[in-house]
Amino acid sequence: MSRKIVAANWKMHGSRAMVESWIRLIRPIEGVELVLFPPVGYIGLANEILSRHAPFLALGAQNVHEAAAGAFTGEASAEMVADLGGRYVIAGHLERRRYSGESDARIANKVRAAYRAGLQPILCVGETLAERSAGEAEAVVARQLTAVTAGLNGPERTTLIVAYEPVWAIGTGKSASALQVEEMHNCIRGILSAAGDIGKDKEMTVLYGGSVSETSADGLFQGPSVDGALVGGVALDGARFMKIGESLRRAKRL
Ligand code: PEP
Repeated sequence: MSRKIVAANWKMHGSRAMVESWIRLIRPIEGVELVLFPPVGYIGLANEILSRHAPFLALGAQNVHEAAAGAFTGEASAEMVADLGGRYVIAGHLERRRYSGESDARIANKVRAAYRAGLQPILCVGETLAERSAGEAEAVVARQLTAVTAGLNGPERTTLIVAYEPVWAIGTGKSASALQVEEMHNCIRGILSAAGDIGKDKEMTVLYGGSVSETSADGLFQGPSVDGALVGGVALDGARFMKIGESLRRAKRL
């Protein structure tokens, strides 16, 4: 069975006070894993607060360095994230690709670093509008995906969580249509199952990200290939994030 996940990516937003007030709003949702990606400096604090108020909530880092330790000023390793109480890592987010020049090869190393530290990676993939208009969306996503899966062993390929995040939908208020998402998720499942254990595609977890809100979630989650969402802007509001989680529970009858 695939996992059902709703994850909040705060990007570079938040404060100590916001960590506390946000976590206090979060309630368990039957069958849905809830994950918070705060800025890395807040993971330890979030872990302390959730142990008292929301032990069902998982934490993760928006990025890690691929080395376990070393002279890399300003960086944090997957091992450090695990030490702080994190369980997940996002790799390949558009904003890391765009502003930090992360290549497919570097992202593959980060995914391997996450597994090395015992963390669950969520790999983000997605095409630009120009690539979609040129009919290259599936080829671009396939390239991003196989660059990572090529370096993984069989079980890792099956447990890898993928978030399809079209570049043109992130932070734009314009979510992809349910049909576009379904088509790309099926393509992703095909690539993963060809790369990993054939026939395991139903067990793979594929999320959608890109301007998900409590209003667009109901339609998006109807797609049988959608296992949840990675949510940016709207997830800064804990109550709205909870509504998206509830929408997933309803859509998947959990
Ligand atoms: C994201 O940052 O992963 C994201 C999907 O952002 P937003 O929901 O704001 O589009």
